[in-house]
Amino acid sequence: MEKQGITILTGCTINKIDRHGHEFTTHLSNGSSIASDKVMFAIGRHPNVANLGLETAGVAINPRNGGIAVDGWSKTSTPNIYAIGDVTHRTNLTPVAIREGHAFADTVFGKKPVQVDHATIPTAVFSQPEVGTVGLTESQARAQFSHVDIYKTDFRPIKSTMSGRDTRVLMKLVVDGTTDIVVGCHIVGDSAAEITQAVGIAVKMKATKADFDATIALHPTAAEELVTMRTPTARYVREAAAE
Ligand SMILES: Cc1cc2nc3c(=O)[nH]c(=O)nc-3n(C[C@H](O)[C@H](O)[C@H](O)COP(=O)(O)OP(=O)(O)OC[C@H]3O[C@@H](n4cnc5c(N)ncnc54)[C@H](O)[C@@H]3O)c2cc1C
Repeated sequence: MEKQGITILTGCTINKIDRHGHEFTTHLSNGSSIASDKVMFAIGRHPNVANLGLETAGVAINPRNGGIAVDGWSKTSTPNIYAIGDVTHRTNLTPVAIREGHAFADTVFGKKPVQVDHATIPTAVFSQPEVGTVGLTESQARAQFSHVDIYKTDFRPIKSTMSGRDTRVLMKLVVDGTTDIVVGCHIVGDSAAEITQAVGIAVKMKATKADFDATIALHPTAAEELVTMRTPTARYVREAAAE
């Protein structure tokens, strides 16, 4: 992003925005200011649950995230009231809200009880370059498993070599070293979102690293790296606690 001319400032926030006609001056907490013709402020969302009378209906709020508290069936603390989607502040994405709605309808009206698995939801940031991710991060996996293998590569894809573009791709597989199951996949680069959607099937099916290795590469693609990384770039083994 920086190579493309984007300046990224970290460790500061916006104190004040002054408007002068069609121009803005944004004052930052580090004492500097930025002049621009547009300002976009995107800092996340909170469920709009105030003044709905939820307390009267006995519907509890989840103190951890401010959304309506639900169980795995999307049932609230009042058994005949269900909540799905962003208002529960679980994973705020359109397909997740749709799936939660389907699961609710199947369970309550369709006699097919089903819970939504929120663990392996492919997500992306549609920036340039794109970011795609599914499953556990390295640190989540290390907290969960005693043996974690990381396969990571950072390369210039063939199509960039030919076009002369200076863009790189980063790919990372997170593997539970005990079961060999690929528990996470993270990609930064062109088509990261498209690749992640497809890899999401394998991760959801609990494919092993051996399954990835047994898949023949499609050459020349960037995604072929996912099936050709043979040696872990990092290995974390937690010693069993002494009795
Ligand atoms: C800028 C932006 C970009 C996004 N991009 C993506 C994306 O690229 N991909 C993705 O998967 N998701 C994206 N999302 C998230 C996605 O929009 C939400 O996760 C999804 O809309 C959630 O669906 P929902 O039905 O739970 O809530 P909503 O779609 O918000 O629907 C809630 C509805 O309830 C209505 N409502 C609210 N209060 C009341 C009330 N008191 N009485 C009656 N009606 C009420 C609202 O008007 C609204 O129509 C984006 C969200 C934003 C804000």
